[in-house]
Amino acid sequence: MTKKLVLYTFIDAFGYEIYKQHPDFLKDIITDKQSLQSVLGFTNTCLPSILSGQYPQEHKQASLFFYSENSPFKWMQVLSFLPGFFDRFRVRNILSKIVKKLHNYTGYFQLYSIPFDKLSYFDFTEKKDYFVPGAPFNTIFDYCVENNIDYHCSNWRKSESENLHSIKEEIQRAKINFAWLYLPSLDGVMHSNGTQSKKTTKKIQSLDQEITKVYNEALKYYDEVSLYVFSDHGMYDVTKGYDVIKDINSLGLTYGKDYVAMYDSTMARFWFKNPTAQEKITAKLQGIKDGKILSEQDLKNIKTYFADGRFGEVFFLMDPSVMINPSYFGKNLISGMHGYHPDELGSNAMLLSNKYIDDSIKSITDIRKTMEQELAL
Ligand SMILES: [Zn+2]
Repeated sequence: MTKKLVLYTFIDAFGYEIYKQHPDFLKDIITDKQSLQSVLGFTNTCLPSILSGQYPQEHKQASLFFYSENSPFKWMQVLSFLPGFFDRFRVRNILSKIVKKLHNYTGYFQLYSIPFDKLSYFDFTEKKDYFVPGAPFNTIFDYCVENNIDYHCSNWRKSESENLHSIKEEIQRAKINFAWLYLPSLDGVMHSNGTQSKKTTKKIQSLDQEITKVYNEALKYYDEVSLYVFSDHGMYDVTKGYDVIKDINSLGLTYGKDYVAMYDSTMARFWFKNPTAQEKITAKLQGIKDGKILSEQDLKNIKTYFADGRFGEVFFLMDPSVMINPSYFGKNLISGMHGYHPDELGSNAMLLSNKYIDDSIKSITDIRKTMEQELAL
């Protein structure tokens, strides 16, 4: 029997439009490539779509934070009365770890810059690590367990170099048939430096070298290696910030009494407590030229519609290259951002392979299909 390894390599934010600017990337290995439509949201929404093959309205991980009357963070309100010291990034990082432990969260948890008094209106989606079988939605790892497929999955808590090291060790044991290699750091390089910087080019070149090494190692131990290199979304260079919070604060409404809002880096989401608040906020948002309200039909088209409005009764999405600044996810403008409309070309993810990719593979939710096909062969 031929010994086959199906190797899926995830590179966070390596969009197809960026890949096109680096056509030499893995050119000696890959024979086929495809641009894939992403989903609305950030990596924490894209990864469940990739792992499950489902859209946000099916896997229900449309955003990290959602409005809840039973917020597990109500106790954090007291922290808002403490001196500014508690609001520093490092302290928030430590607090995030404490909260994660207290609530037994195994997923990725961060308080970001969400004000402590606002956090008490929200609950959190990623309570469970979805890289281990038994996530709230069916993942490729559940599929492997169900089908007795031995696999290796990178540990997202570890560094890229540690993960590259462990996958090579695993390949040398030659016991696995499926591997998920997790390479998230290009995302951070582009957030800080933009898509056109030398640092970005250097990072892409080093990823090329590292993936080539892993692939060559696999060829030594396996008769056949199906390599897939893919991303979750693209990246835009940021040209300006827009202060949505200031606009909403100018309306004279009271947060918590009239409305609740979550300000992501590119998207503001609102829940209303009375019709006046809804009218005033909607009118204000309609006047902002750098973004638009997503209609019910828009949300249905991109399969992110929730009838109960749990992720927002109104979604306001910025145009590409504009950031909400400041937002609850950061106080400073940065060089690169994603999380724009999935119909925008620069939002597209990519899929590269040394195998033929069928034209029907058009969305990041189709990646799961290719995994199952490879594992069935
Ligand atoms: Zn990112």
